[in-house]
Parts: sequence; C-alpha cells; structure tokens
Amino acid sequence: MAQDKEIRENPDLIVSDIIRDFMLHSPENTLNKESGEPAWDEPLIGFSRGDDPLYQEFKDDIGDFLWTPPEIFRKTFSMEPAHLTVISWILPQTELSKEDNRKSKTYPAERWLRSRLFGEQANLALARHTVQRLDEAGIRAVAPELSPLWQWQTSERYGYASNWSNRHAAYAAGLGTFSLCDGLITPKGKAMRCGSVVAEINIEATPRPYNDHRAWCLFYSHNGKCGKCIPRCPVGALSKDGHDKLKCRNYLFDVIADYSKERYGIASYGCGLCQTGVPCESRVPLPGAV
Ligand code: SF4
Ligand code: SF4
Repeated sequence: MAQDKEIRENPDLIVSDIIRDFMLHSPENTLNKESGEPAWDEPLIGFSRGDDPLYQEFKDDIGDFLWTPPEIFRKTFSMEPAHLTVISWILPQTELSKEDNRKSKTYPAERWLRSRLFGEQANLALARHTVQRLDEAGIRAVAPELSPLWQWQTSERYGYASNWSNRHAAYAAGLGTFSLCDGLITPKGKAMRCGSVVAEINIEATPRPYNDHRAWCLFYSHNGKCGKCIPRCPVGALSKDGHDKLKCRNYLFDVIADYSKERYGIASYGCGLCQTGVPCESRVPLPGAV
C-alpha cells in the first residue's frame, strides 16, 4: 500500500493517522450499548525515544522488573534494535461517560464500567492493529502489555506494578504528568486510558511541556491547593499522602466486580470516581479552578 511506503518518510504523521483512524472508524471502539456509541473520543498521540534516559530512571525508581524499551524489544525479537521509538496514545473518555460518572458517589456509572471492559478491549485492539500495520511496512514493533512475558510484579516502593507502564511512557512522550491519585493528567484531563507500542522506527520525540513529573496536579504545583479528588473516593483510598493502591484495588476487585456483574451483567471492575467531578477531569487544571 502507498501508505506503507510513506511510513519511513513521514513516520510521525502516518503512525498518528493509523491510530486516529482506528479509533474514529473501527467498530471495536464501542461501549457495546444499543446506542452504538463509542468508548473513546479522538486520541492524543505522542512519541518518546527508546533510549530516553527517563526509562532507566523509571526502572531505578519502580523496580528492576520494569522493562526499558530496548529490553522488551530484545526479549521479543532476540536482536539489538536500531533506533527505537515508543509510540504513546491517550484515549479520552466521552462526555457521556464522564457526565454519568460525575453524578456517581459510591459505584461507577454503567458507561464507565463498559469503557473499562469494552473500551480496554478496543485499546488492546488498537495496540495490535498498530503493531500489525508497522509489521506490514517491514517495521518491527511490540506492544509490551500484550507480550506473553508481561506479568504483574511487586514494587518495593509502590506495591503492585507490572513490567511495563503505559502511563510512564505517556509521561515520557509529553502527554501528561502524574497526580495525587496516581492518574496521569493529560491535556484532555485525567479521565482517560492510555496505551503504547515500542517500534524500530526513528520518530522525533514530542517535546515535554513540563519539567516535573507532577507539574499539572494543583496539589503538588500549588502547595497543597485542590485535593478535590480526595473526597471523591468512596473507600478513603486517597489522602494528602497520595493513593493507597491496595485499598483501591480491594474495592475494585472485592466490591465493584460483583456490583458490575449483578447490576449490569458484565465482568468489569473500573471505578474512576476520582477521575471525574474534579478540576483535572477533562483538562490541565488552572489554579483558579479551585
Ligand atoms: S483533583 Fe486536584 S489534587 Fe486531585 S489530582 Fe486533580 S488537580 Fe491533583
Ligand atoms: S479508582 Fe480507587 S482511588 Fe479512585 S475513587 Fe475509585 S477506589 Fe478511590
């Protein structure tokens, strides 16, 4: 295909088109509701270099089990990579999903649960599709979270973790910074999911419009201002000390999973109350917002 030939000439534009086109037109981008509405709005896309020293810093901070881009490439293809680029995307929740979840106080809204289940399936389908399109153009690529080697791990500092973090890749690609509740605040806000693919392709890194990993969270950038996400959590997993991952996880798996099955007949466990009804829900918050 002509597009395949163009990938090496205009890799950022073509790769961005592949991702955007999939999310705008694929039937896989669905909440599986009768309304036929999509799970996600138009994605944001960014790139980071595979040899960005940030990836080693993440590994030093989180644990030795965390892969750097060259590590997962080597494990997948048993060879040294040339130039690696980490392709990252943000999938913003739709207005309808956010509006519903904003009104929720104890349990997440049906749309939110559907986006966690069916939207995540679309997210993984996007990762597969991106890898396949690159492969068709002769470019080796891997979606780390789809690797058979991917697994849950335990970080001494942060508790449960995994071999790869899409959020950290998105941070490296200039797409957002971390927040009091651990979520990534992006230009489209914190109500989103993200994904990434490591590819043997040379794409210029997207500039990072911040120099601190928590720059866009008002609590850290404005001396404890905001904290609006804290009372949104129904189980007290958020405080001025941050996010209690275990408390949050227990709520998702011990309570929400049953609720989702009994109430809506779907095997989901999303919550996202702290991602909605807060100043950083849909944008980078300004100090005047609180
Ligand atoms: S609600 Fe406020 S304190 Fe919480 S993550 Fe958003 S900006 Fe940070
Ligand atoms: S996702 Fe976790 S931290 Fe956020 S509101 Fe729900 S239980 Fe609390």
